[in-house]
Amino acid sequence: MDKTVVRFAPSPTGALHIGGARTALFNWLYARNKNGKSLLRIEDTDKERSKKEFEDQIIKTLEWLEISPDEPPLKQSLNINKHIEVANYLLKNGHAYKCYCTQEELELEKQESRNKNLPYTYSRKCRNLTNGEGPFIVRFKSKDSGFSVLNDLVQGNIEIPNSTIEDFVILRTDSTPTYQLSASVDDHLMNITHVIRGDDHKINTFKQIQIFEAMKWAIPTYAHIPLIHSKEGKKLSKRDGAITVADYQKIGILPESLRNYLLKLGWSYRDKEIFSLEESIQLFNLNGIGKSPSKLDMERVLSLNETYIKNINEDKLFDYFKNYTSEFKSKIDEIFLDKIKKNLSIFKNKAKTLEDIFNNCNFVFNFQTIDIENTLDKNAVKLIDEFYQSIINLDDQNFDACKEIINNIINKNKIKFKDFGQPIRLVLTGSKFAPSINDIIQSLGINEVKKRLKHYL
Ligand code: GLU
Ligand code: ZN
Repeated sequence: MDKTVVRFAPSPTGALHIGGARTALFNWLYARNKNGKSLLRIEDTDKERSKKEFEDQIIKTLEWLEISPDEPPLKQSLNINKHIEVANYLLKNGHAYKCYCTQEELELEKQESRNKNLPYTYSRKCRNLTNGEGPFIVRFKSKDSGFSVLNDLVQGNIEIPNSTIEDFVILRTDSTPTYQLSASVDDHLMNITHVIRGDDHKINTFKQIQIFEAMKWAIPTYAHIPLIHSKEGKKLSKRDGAITVADYQKIGILPESLRNYLLKLGWSYRDKEIFSLEESIQLFNLNGIGKSPSKLDMERVLSLNETYIKNINEDKLFDYFKNYTSEFKSKIDEIFLDKIKKNLSIFKNKAKTLEDIFNNCNFVFNFQTIDIENTLDKNAVKLIDEFYQSIINLDDQNFDACKEIINNIINKNKIKFKDFGQPIRLVLTGSKFAPSINDIIQSLGINEVKKRLKHYL
């Protein structure tokens, strides 16, 4: 059998959506599972809307998800001459024709079907024209009777009447190729064996197959994945919050948990929830893809991310955190980063995102002072002084001695731990919501504690 070759073919007209990322993931996993090849084709033929910045972002995002293609990306615009050649061949061999209809004529046709409440398909009126005049577009001569069947690896056999497939455009008035033509020619030139893409491309597939047939090319196998819907079961829109991969990166979702989430979004293997990359390669198949749309579930993303944060290697988690803060938050000084690294187990506790970790350790690099006169009573202020005087000679890391000192202060003053803990937490961190006193002292180091206490004396 031929080696499996798949492609992910995004248009660089915006940031990569999670639907696109899932399509890329499924393609990549399918290729890995079959020991095949996964390719990336940048469909940049729409010059107005395509942007280099989006192209770069797509490539970077795939890298981040660790699903980069096996070869350098192919830019579709570089193949335009080949697409035009095929259009001319189709014209010469009677599979395509020139349509001289003006915009106004076509608009009139559209209006007529709107009036009759029918879906619009071009009337095919130029199909048998022997000669026309003026500017023209080139249309493919679609089958107009009988039925076409698509044997889809996800959806099974899909049959549609050919009368619903219009004579679609392959070259525009300025001779530039359309998506239908470019995608078919490139899929052929790239030796694509399996086209795995969103459900919304089904009707395109019926058109593209006809180009393959006319050219006598081997037709790839198709698999159409149901779309991702909102929590309410509607088409995703900007209102649904996090819909681009960047939205997830911004709040500090780890690549492995987003990948795991996307894998499970519309695909399942028994009742297994957590998949390492190796496991997903081994177990991935197209049979596991469901036939109905899947729903986005932010709670699920967060709880998976929490699991990954808890379980991945701490050095790796720290690297993610460091990259995350320098990209999305303020840059943290090396000395503080070092303290955070040493105490990551404290800060990752209950964190659902890297942003949570950032907030949990904020007090380490960000000394928020408070107005103690108006916040604390006299006794509390005395405690700050007493604590400062008792640790003044302690070494930076002598936490055992510090604990003992705290206990002595509590006993001596006949107070409860919280009578000491609350004001000290407040002066050290500026917040009531911080870790335990011991965790705070350990993550700051005793020298920094002295410095902060002294600020109030
Ligand atoms: N460029 C198309 C899109 O972004 C995908 C085309 C395809 O997979 O054939 O929707
Ligand atoms: Zn026409």
